[in-house]
Amino acid sequence: MELAWKVAEGSEVRLADYDPDYTAKNTSHSEAKEELDKLGAELDGLQELMWAAHHHSLLLILQGMDTSGKDGTIRHVFSHVNPQGCAVQAFKVPTEEEASHDFLWRAHKVTPGRGALTIFNRSYYEDVLVVRVHNLVPEEVWTKRYKEIKHFEKLLVDNKTIVLKFFLHISKDEQEQRLLAREKDKDKAWKVAVGDWKERAYWDEYQKAYEVALSKCSTDKAPWYIVPANHKWYRNLAIAHTLVHVLRGYKDEWQADLEKRGRQALAELRQMRKEAHK
Ligand code: AMP
Ligand code: MG
Repeated sequence: MELAWKVAEGSEVRLADYDPDYTAKNTSHSEAKEELDKLGAELDGLQELMWAAHHHSLLLILQGMDTSGKDGTIRHVFSHVNPQGCAVQAFKVPTEEEASHDFLWRAHKVTPGRGALTIFNRSYYEDVLVVRVHNLVPEEVWTKRYKEIKHFEKLLVDNKTIVLKFFLHISKDEQEQRLLAREKDKDKAWKVAVGDWKERAYWDEYQKAYEVALSKCSTDKAPWYIVPANHKWYRNLAIAHTLVHVLRGYKDEWQADLEKRGRQALAELRQMRKEAHK
């Protein structure tokens, strides 16, 4: 059972077909907390195994409209994971240096090395989202980027990076509620940004830009998942569940790598002792 919707390669996404309020029938809010704890513990174990096996790396991309819960996901889903071997990279408006390079330069530098997990809080997808919505570069430049992104992700996958991409899908009404809640809560007021209300005016353009990005750039090897995100507890559960299910598929291979590394290490030690006795 999938809790988030995987976008099949080559399909045309219409976001209106996906309900941001969706919660799978047989999960309730109270059960979800327990389930998330269980998945978190399993995720911790899998990440440790990946780290030790040193064979694959994991790149997790989080995208979504303002207030869709990218920060909350990182806090709640990854709280169990060992900070060693885990990094979070946030992508903001490019600096002067970043903007003087190709759009993938700043991302490529911070992709995870063998064994590591890196979470991208926003990503190079902004270069076909905000950039497209506001025409920050000419159309002939951003239209090429979908293909360039696919090539880049293929390069990563060919080099043993597991690439998973989550679109946190909220409704326009839910965004309004969340923006207003920030204003009312003095602990959240620091998050208030005039820009968020300004960007909200481009809601439809952003939805369209997401539809194109998800349609063009979801591949079997580097899939996009649409995560119903109006309910925060369900969003966390859906992401943790998807992640754990994908990583389970590598468990035997990692275990075998680890045993092989163990045998090699012991053999080297025996050899060293034998030579010391000569
Ligand atoms: P936040 O995630 O709220 O800290 O905001 C980061 C801001 O940086 C968002 O408004 C993004 O749209 C913007 N941003 C990220 N990448 C780019 C990019 N390549 N070009 C322009 N703006 C970007
Ligand atoms: Mg923001």
